[in-house]
Amino acid sequence: MVSTPDEQQGYRGSATHEVTNQAPPLAPYDASDDTALLEGLRREGAGWAEEDLRRLGRQAGSAQVREWADLANRHEPELRTHDRYGNRVDEVDFHPSWHHLMRTAIAEGLAASPWADGRPGAHVARTAGGLVWGHTEAGHGCPTSMTYAAVPALRTQPELAKLYEPLLTSREYDPVLREPTEKRGLLAGMGMTEKQGGSDVRTNTTTATPTAEPGVYTLRGHKWFTSAPMCDVFLVLAQAPGGLSCFLVPRVLPDGTRNTFRIQRLKDKLGNRSNASSEPEFDGTVAWLVGPEGQGVKTIIEMVNCTRLDCVMMSAALMRTSLVEAGHHARHRSAFGARLVDQPLMRNVLADLALESEAATTLTLRLAGAADRAIRGDEGEAAFRRIATAVGKYWVTKRGPAFTAEALECLGGNGYVEDSGMPRHYREAPLLSIWEGSGNVNALDVLRALSREPGTAEALFGELALARGADARLDGAVTRLKTGLSEASQTTARRLVEQMALTLQASLLVRHAPAPVADAFCATRLGGDWGHAFGTLPRTAGLDTIVERALPGEGPGAGAG
Ligand SMILES: Cc1cc2nc3c(=O)[nH]c(=O)nc-3n(C[C@H](O)[C@H](O)[C@H](O)COP(=O)(O)OP(=O)(O)OC[C@H]3O[C@@H](n4cnc5c(N)ncnc54)[C@H](O)[C@@H]3O)c2cc1C
Repeated sequence: MVSTPDEQQGYRGSATHEVTNQAPPLAPYDASDDTALLEGLRREGAGWAEEDLRRLGRQAGSAQVREWADLANRHEPELRTHDRYGNRVDEVDFHPSWHHLMRTAIAEGLAASPWADGRPGAHVARTAGGLVWGHTEAGHGCPTSMTYAAVPALRTQPELAKLYEPLLTSREYDPVLREPTEKRGLLAGMGMTEKQGGSDVRTNTTTATPTAEPGVYTLRGHKWFTSAPMCDVFLVLAQAPGGLSCFLVPRVLPDGTRNTFRIQRLKDKLGNRSNASSEPEFDGTVAWLVGPEGQGVKTIIEMVNCTRLDCVMMSAALMRTSLVEAGHHARHRSAFGARLVDQPLMRNVLADLALESEAATTLTLRLAGAADRAIRGDEGEAAFRRIATAVGKYWVTKRGPAFTAEALECLGGNGYVEDSGMPRHYREAPLLSIWEGSGNVNALDVLRALSREPGTAEALFGELALARGADARLDGAVTRLKTGLSEASQTTARRLVEQMALTLQASLLVRHAPAPVADAFCATRLGGDWGHAFGTLPRTAGLDTIVERALPGEGPGAGAG
């Protein structure tokens, strides 16, 4: 490394003063050093993946990977619509750091590889990996998530699945644009949202015209949002003669020629800046039918079930990484004669954030366990997954922006500065409650599940019953929830789903977390002994135990920086 002129003269930081009381760099650290995560991994049937998870955690917390995350977000993807001769190319160029992140994530099984892994717990292991790798940066989690989620939807068209699934589940990242079957690994995206409607996809105007060849159509129309447009194949909704249908659209056709996939522009977004989100147009675009005509929503919902879990996972990961940053800063920064972590009010803030983070992580892993068992044919878990994923998507992603804002504030002014990485987490957080069904849409989806699939309520209350008698506040919340269900309406859907989420999180913590964690969660989130901001835990809460569980080695008595 080349030293600066100041360093050559022996200055450290500045000629006018000594730099003191700034936290040292957090990296290298182990992003898997998270008791709630490791306990959840074992409980949900993927203890066998622990060694790999620990290795991934050290990698995620390394200075090298943190630099990739930073660079991939500073050097945003650029759209190249034409080549120098005026031919359309529709290519997106990325910083090399993006490719490093993608290559590692895919090699570590964070895309679609669990579908090719027969081991019980394979989907849990992937989710736990996402919780750990999510400490890096969220943008590249979009294509890996869509690739994971495309597989169950594609399986509704077995001949297409036979061809493409082995490549989607590959652990090789192959970013070169080529005919899909000639590649070592594929990425999948999805195109549902159009200008006139995203949540209400029934308003899609893109048309699908059948050709003489069975199952082959041509598309004409547009999408308003299609992320990761450099993917190899896309699941796209379009109006066929039989109604809204799902199609597979390759960017390169089997004869090696380019399919028509005109990228009009890339979105200039609040966050998620490493990832490209595009506006494509289709005009004579070749597409293959996936699932029956007219069953597009039913087909693509298989994909959405998986991406929704990933939204919960990514929100929980953002919470955890923000908490780790906040705890690190509080441990090393002193104000008014004591380290911040030892200031009682800062301990209250950190403990409150730690409760929220553990509840999010524990719920994420429970949902991943349900998905894993449902995929292997467990009907009870399928019913639980159906309702609890929508509940978790609504609530955990809603908590993300408030959580990341509070964690950012723990770093004071430093937290507001890009170098800290905290602004990136803060900007990312609201996206997770927008895509894959915005807040209202998820809340209404819970009502839909309750009315159309009564087994889902049974599965949820069956889960809650496992904690019956352990905490009076929890028992009271379950009783209130039953009343709430009988009065469910669109107007009050958010109230109901919030109540469901908190009761479910509390039941999981009562069953699995140490008593002070469960007790403080029940007292505040169910018992009402709480304010409206983080850091309002009651005096009786076991703050030290909560902080030490969440931030090992960061509590009182840990070495001051
Ligand atoms: C960065 C980014 C990347 C994206 N990538 C993709 C992608 O790759 N593929 C893709 O298909 N889409 C993508 N999207 C689109 C995203 O999924 C939609 O924006 C989202 O589903 C909401 O749809 P909309 O924008 O049309 O809003 P609308 O559907 O118009 O919703 C606006 C608001 O109204 C609420 N609302 C809707 N219906 C109701 C109702 N019945 N009752 C009460 N409230 C309601 C919603 O909750 C929301 O708050 C992306 C979006 C972003 C921001």
